[in-house]
Amino acid sequence: MTQPLPPLPETFEAELGLDLHMHSTASDGALSPCALAEACQAKGVTRFCLTDHDTVAGVAEAQRHADSLGLRCLAGSELSTLWRGIGIHVVALLPSGAHGALEAGLAAQARARDARAEEIAHRLEKVGLDAVLARAREQAGSERPLGRPDFAKALVAAEVVPDMPTAFKKYLGAGKPGDVKTHWPYLSEVVEWIRDSQGIAVLAHPLRYRLTHRKRGQLLDAFREAGGEAAELISGHQNADVGRDLARQLEARDLMGSQGSDFHYPGGPLAPGVMSAPPRCSVIPVWRHPKLATFAA
Ligand code: AMP
Ligand code: MN
Ligand code: MN
Ligand code: MN
Repeated sequence: MTQPLPPLPETFEAELGLDLHMHSTASDGALSPCALAEACQAKGVTRFCLTDHDTVAGVAEAQRHADSLGLRCLAGSELSTLWRGIGIHVVALLPSGAHGALEAGLAAQARARDARAEEIAHRLEKVGLDAVLARAREQAGSERPLGRPDFAKALVAAEVVPDMPTAFKKYLGAGKPGDVKTHWPYLSEVVEWIRDSQGIAVLAHPLRYRLTHRKRGQLLDAFREAGGEAAELISGHQNADVGRDLARQLEARDLMGSQGSDFHYPGGPLAPGVMSAPPRCSVIPVWRHPKLATFAA
């Protein structure tokens, strides 16, 4: 059911009560889908998209609860992909849900996560910890596919490292032993899955891949060529100067702009609906996409 809410404006503005990138316990978030909807309500976020890593498992629960609270929850997922050997995340906004090629693709992503988890465990065992898979599973606290944060928590719990940032820095971050990217499908393939579900493919946090301006431009070109329609212009933590530079890159390619906090857990630097200020630009907000007309109205 669609709740009556004031329509979203035609341009980017502060305080829209809109967050199109959030995680729950269906992936590596700390809040259940229900608790996430409640956290949104508490922060004045009236429209949100649940974008758990490589799954839509939490969406039905989030939507039911959002509905009962008078909020609007859009189905979504954040898909893991590869582009030129770099791990790139693509947010799928799914007003019609996940079906067909995307449904099959998400099942394949879950298998890829399982295979990757075994390889990560194997690699971390080589550097000295035992029973790594069981330890990560214990940290996950459920049977959902494992993510690198589960391994990071296991390393902290076993006192191999003092904290999560160190776990990523030494063992799980880019180029470290636990960084196994080879299982993910190519960027263009994932964009095709999303389009097959009548979804909108959004390049997630373009400023977090440590790319040069030029290489980021090439990524945006490849993404658009593949059928991607938007990129996150506004994110949970982002520098204002590079935000303006990113806006120019989206304008030059007629890519729409999205906004999402990438919220994972309360008490940290990120909160539902809290993100960088919108840069002055002519980028068209993704909520003006015809497929999101009902969501934005
Ligand atoms: P995965 O999807 O399993 O490859 O795990 C990636 C997730 O790990 C990201 O979505 C973040 O939630 C988390 N992550 C990545 N880098 C760090 C870091 N340096 N410190 C803490 N968490 C991180
Ligand atoms: Mn995450
Ligand atoms: Mn991401
Ligand atoms: Mn995310």
